[in-house]
Amino acid sequence: MAKRDYYEVLGVERGASEAELKKAYRRLAMKFHPDRNPDNKEAEEKFKEANEAYEVLSDAAKRSAYDQYGHAGVDPQMGGGGFGGGGGASFSDIFGDVFSDFFGGGGGRGGRGGAQRGADLRYTLDLDLEEAVRGTTVTIKVPTLVGCKTCDGSGAKKGTSPVTCTTCGGAGQVRMQQGFFSVQQTCPRCHGSGKMITDPCGSCHGQGRVEEHKTLSVKVPAGVDTGDRIRLSGEGEAGTQGGPAGDLYVVVSVREHSIFQRDGKHLYCEVPISFADAALGGELEVPTLDGRVKLKIPEGTQTGKLFRLRGKGVAPVRGGDAGDLMCRVAVETPVNLSKRQRELLEEFRGSLEGDSSHSPKASGWFEGVKRFFGDL
Ligand SMILES: [Zn+2]
Ligand SMILES: [Zn+2]
Repeated sequence: MAKRDYYEVLGVERGASEAELKKAYRRLAMKFHPDRNPDNKEAEEKFKEANEAYEVLSDAAKRSAYDQYGHAGVDPQMGGGGFGGGGGASFSDIFGDVFSDFFGGGGGRGGRGGAQRGADLRYTLDLDLEEAVRGTTVTIKVPTLVGCKTCDGSGAKKGTSPVTCTTCGGAGQVRMQQGFFSVQQTCPRCHGSGKMITDPCGSCHGQGRVEEHKTLSVKVPAGVDTGDRIRLSGEGEAGTQGGPAGDLYVVVSVREHSIFQRDGKHLYCEVPISFADAALGGELEVPTLDGRVKLKIPEGTQTGKLFRLRGKGVAPVRGGDAGDLMCRVAVETPVNLSKRQRELLEEFRGSLEGDSSHSPKASGWFEGVKRFFGDL
């Protein structure tokens, strides 16, 4: 299936700023997150698509390559890491890329000599808001390619060794005629190593690397947010023939919270209050991440009013002051009234008759309507 344009995926202009990209990505990530769309294949695809688009466009180097060459410029098979998203399941995709690159095409991994750095891998780590805010240590299980122990990574059966490639004579590169041009290409037989294996190792089938699960402990610092990355140096895919290992990028994805919405370092929540408390004033118990606190509500509080609790938000991972918790009060209309309550309210309603001084919003609103119709 042809890939969609990354800008189109995120729904932004080609010249979109970093902030615009981030905003568009967050919106899509929230909408299509697998936690919110269980067993929805289409949402999962959309989530992955948005992840991939953001991964590329948020990286200045990748973005410029994409702007110049399109998808070919940033194709994960052309070196670099695999793309994934949506938790551990995405690793099968990454391995698809790794292996097709490995066995097949060769592609951009050429170059002289066999020792090459392993690819970077990506792991999406889902965290609860509390874990993201306080920091945590998690254990993850990551499939990865490691050097084959049977053949010490050479790919040749024990007791034998690789021989010089007969196609390129050990150069690793071959010249090919393409139209008028003669182009140098990575040798298709030895993939640039200059050596070929006549008697492959049985454990790794001549690849020198095998797939293995490894368990890693990841320390997540306090204050991380969706999209933050933790780099585990050298924990990516093993290099070939003694090349250094790639890195593993653990990408944080914070789950939706049942009470709080997060926007950067600030938290938002909605607190219902009774209409009597709103009118008379009172004390409310509001939730914070550190437990309940009391919040004084002045008399005459209108619905939608925001109360700011300083420092009760999130302490950002990159330092700086903690954000605030914003509590939005929502005045609740009482239901299931008893006969007595109904009488009290009827009486109360009667007492308001003809006196607009108790309804600041309504009187302003009626004034506006009058002005609009010019019948003041
Ligand atoms: Zn082996
Ligand atoms: Zn060769």
